[in-house]
Amino acid sequence: MKYIYLLIFFVIGCSNSNNLDNNFGIVIHGGAGTILKENMTLELEEKYKNALREAVLIGYDILNNGGTSEKAVEKTINYLEDSPLFNAGKGAVLNFDGEVELDASFMEGKNLNAGAISGSKKIKNPISTAIKVMNSSSHVMLSGKGADDFAIQHNMQTVEQNYFKTERRINSLKKIKSIENNKVSNLLNSDYRVQKLGTVGCVALDKFGNLSAGTSTGGMTNKKWNRIGDAPIIGAGTYANNNSCAVSSTGWGEYFIRGVVAYDIAALMEYKNLSIKKAAKTVINKISKMGGDGGVIAIDKQGNIAMEMNTSGMYRAHINSKGEIDVKIYK
Ligand code: ASP
Repeated sequence: MKYIYLLIFFVIGCSNSNNLDNNFGIVIHGGAGTILKENMTLELEEKYKNALREAVLIGYDILNNGGTSEKAVEKTINYLEDSPLFNAGKGAVLNFDGEVELDASFMEGKNLNAGAISGSKKIKNPISTAIKVMNSSSHVMLSGKGADDFAIQHNMQTVEQNYFKTERRINSLKKIKSIENNKVSNLLNSDYRVQKLGTVGCVALDKFGNLSAGTSTGGMTNKKWNRIGDAPIIGAGTYANNNSCAVSSTGWGEYFIRGVVAYDIAALMEYKNLSIKKAAKTVINKISKMGGDGGVIAIDKQGNIAMEMNTSGMYRAHINSKGEIDVKIYK
């Protein structure tokens, strides 16, 4: 009898490991915008590349060990949120009042479940709370004090505003305000484009064939009136559907909301059979025509990917199931 049990365990083990041989992959971004080699020091470039490499490897290890795309996206984004280099979590940009307000969203492609938070002033890792909203509430999006209260009630880590603030972002706000006061509107426009840099996002396909997408940001420097961008909006900043792909956006959020960017890419694949690259290109072209700028990362259920942008750069990285890694900054 003992041997029969052993045999059953062996057969189950084999069928699981067959499942675990499936294709998988992960793509991340750390924001798109006017990133020019001539404005970058070699040292800073290395810092960004190392952070992107470390982040994407966190997700890769989870997927390689048979973890879910949900976990891979969460832990990878947590790393980027904790890094002061990116406009998410620590190091997020400051609003008009000199405060940090954080937005994030997450979606899983299997059941089209989603969770999001916007305008949080306390949540250390917004992506984890977005996932908590998805898994432990009957809602999709919570905002402001409500999102912070939900995080506290669910034992998510919260911190004081000072934790998020960095000298670089304090100086950026000062600079943008002085330009605004001088009413040099052209300059303001170009500076505005630069200052929204650094949103982070991650899309992943796990060995079980499930796609997930997540995005986390501080939004735009000097934002007023509880402005909310595309990052926490399902269909604009984030979308995942096992029938098509997982997408995370970065860029001028107002255009990405109006263009329903993330969903549009998935819809072109599902209803028009476009490849992931063609779909992402088509939608980025649409954003260009509208006058917006930014980029997207996407992965489909075969592990094909897209990293498209109409800006001079996008911090980004990809690893496939063979462990081949690609880290890039410029277009
Ligand atoms: N999309 C973000 C927003 O508009 C900013 C960015 O991705 O750079 O809030």
